Amino acid sequence: MMAGDGLLVRVRPSLGRMSREQAIGFCEAALTLGSGHIDVTNRAAFQIRGVPEADHRALMERLIAIGLAHADEERDAHVPILINPDWHEGDDSALIATELTARLRELPDLPAKVGFAIDAGPAPVLSDASADFRVERAASGALILRADGRIKGTPVNTADAAEGLIRMAHRFVASGGVQAGRMARHNAPLSEEAIEAPAPARSRAVALAATPGPFHAAPFGRIEAAELLAIIADDARAVRVTPWRGLVLEGSGAPADDPSDPRLAADACPGAPACPQSSVATRELAARLAPYVPGLHVSGCAKGCARPSQAAVVLTGREGVFDLAFNARAGAPPLHAGLWPDQIFAHFGAH
Ligand code: SF4
Repeated sequence: MMAGDGLLVRVRPSLGRMSREQAIGFCEAALTLGSGHIDVTNRAAFQIRGVPEADHRALMERLIAIGLAHADEERDAHVPILINPDWHEGDDSALIATELTARLRELPDLPAKVGFAIDAGPAPVLSDASADFRVERAASGALILRADGRIKGTPVNTADAAEGLIRMAHRFVASGGVQAGRMARHNAPLSEEAIEAPAPARSRAVALAATPGPFHAAPFGRIEAAELLAIIADDARAVRVTPWRGLVLEGSGAPADDPSDPRLAADACPGAPACPQSSVATRELAARLAPYVPGLHVSGCAKGCARPSQAAVVLTGREGVFDLAFNARAGAPPLHAGLWPDQIFAHFGAH
């Protein structure tokens, strides 16, 4: 899709994992055919930014050559499939996600944001991640299919789970879900009996302790291709994307970053100079404020690309200064208008 800095090319690797060779090829493509900036999205995708239109075909050919895109565009995964980042070869999550990925053509046309969470580890860890149709572990140890927004789910076997998810998606469409947009907003009755609640959720830290490599943070969902290339070149055998603004470096001996780093909870769009709509730099300000301001969103302009929903604290850039609002979206009427960064740091006691 076209963005302010050129084309943005999104890749959703199978099971959220790029092998070492794929990751190296992906980074090299981002450096030579894009701006070198890579986004790590909270929907399990990698994005190459700043691709000139003239280079789009060459980039697609490279991605096809390394198995990160299909020559047949129809087969490309437009549907987000999240998987618990601590999945292991042959476990329930890996088996179900592999089957669902192979059967994407059986899905109906779904609204753009609708997606799946394959969360069949010892207990759920993706409950807060955006998804509409979920496979989770119940307290009894059974697997359940759960529609987002519903408290309970329907027991299912590993072998039937992908089929069950596909059926849920068809029922969602047949019952008018496209008009509702997301499962959580869709009140149609479920045709199968939902009888088991998911087990109490695991923390991110617990799930990341079970991954086959350390967590590498990507504050604001951004990592530079050169940086990632250097990290992989050391010793990683693969890279997994997480929905938590960070990667898992499979097999790497690098120290793990803290998944509770407050910068990973703040939202900030690229701002100036990356985005021509912005008159302010956003991410430096957000990084300094984040430890002092929970629920922070810093937006370069009223469009609010980094977070369409309300934030506890939102700073919106306008003509070189910021407007401050609370429990609001970017561009909302401010409580304090026209603030300079120093005034903002003083307001929140940030050093
Ligand atoms: S919110 Fe505005 S400044 Fe930020 S990326 Fe979107 S358009 Fe650009």
